Amino acid sequence: MKILIIEDEKRLAAVLKKGLEENAFTVDISHDGEEGLYMAETFPYDAILLDIMLPFIDGFTILSKLRAKGIGVPVLMLTARGEVEDRIKGLNTGADDYIAKPFDFSELLARLKSVIRRSKGKPQPLLVIGDLTIDTNSRSVRRAGREVRLSATEYNLLEYLALNTNRVISRSEIIEHIYDTEHDYNSNLIDVNISNLRNKLDKGFDRQLISTIRGAGYMLKGDA
Ligand code: CA
Repeated sequence: MKILIIEDEKRLAAVLKKGLEENAFTVDISHDGEEGLYMAETFPYDAILLDIMLPFIDGFTILSKLRAKGIGVPVLMLTARGEVEDRIKGLNTGADDYIAKPFDFSELLARLKSVIRRSKGKPQPLLVIGDLTIDTNSRSVRRAGREVRLSATEYNLLEYLALNTNRVISRSEIIEHIYDTEHDYNSNLIDVNISNLRNKLDKGFDRQLISTIRGAGYMLKGDA
C-alpha cells in the first residue's frame, strides 16, 4: 500500500515515513504544496496524509483541486490541536478523516488503515473470502482454519488483491502499490512472489484463489 505524505515539517515527515514503513507501507514524501499536488495528481496512492499550512499551495486548496478533478484518494488531514474550524473545513472539502497534531502514531495508523479499507468498500479489518481470512490488524492469514505463513511482500500482495477482489490487477498496478519505487527490482520478482503465494495458499485446495488473467494481470475472486 503506497502513501503520500505532504508535510513541510521535515522531521515529522521523516518520523511518519519510518513508522509507516515499519508497518509495511511504501511511502513518498513531498515538503511543499505544489510538488505534493503534482504527485497526488500523477501517481495512484492508496491514501494521502495532508498537512494544512504548506509552502506554495495550502492543504485545503490541494484537497479541493484533487476532488474537483474526480480524484477520490482517501485523505487524512493533519490539523493543529484545537483548530475545530480547520477540521470542519477539511471534512467539508472532501477529507475522509483528520488527526490533530501532536498525535499518537498508533492512532494515526488505525485511522489511516480505516480510511483505506473504507475507500475500497471493505470497512471490516477482517477480510473473509470463502475459506480465506485475512486479519489486517495482525497481518495474519488463514485458509480453511489453518495458518498460512507469508513473507512481508507476499502478505502485502495478498492484502492488495483481497482489498480489490474481482478486479484484474495489472503488473504495473502491483509495482506502483506494493514495491518501493526507489529500489531497483527485477520484474520477475512479481512472478516469483505470486508463485510462492499460490504455493502457500492454494496448494492442496480445489478452489484456486489467485487467477492469472493472461496479458492483463492477476485477480482474487471473491464470493459472488
Ligand atoms: Ca505545515
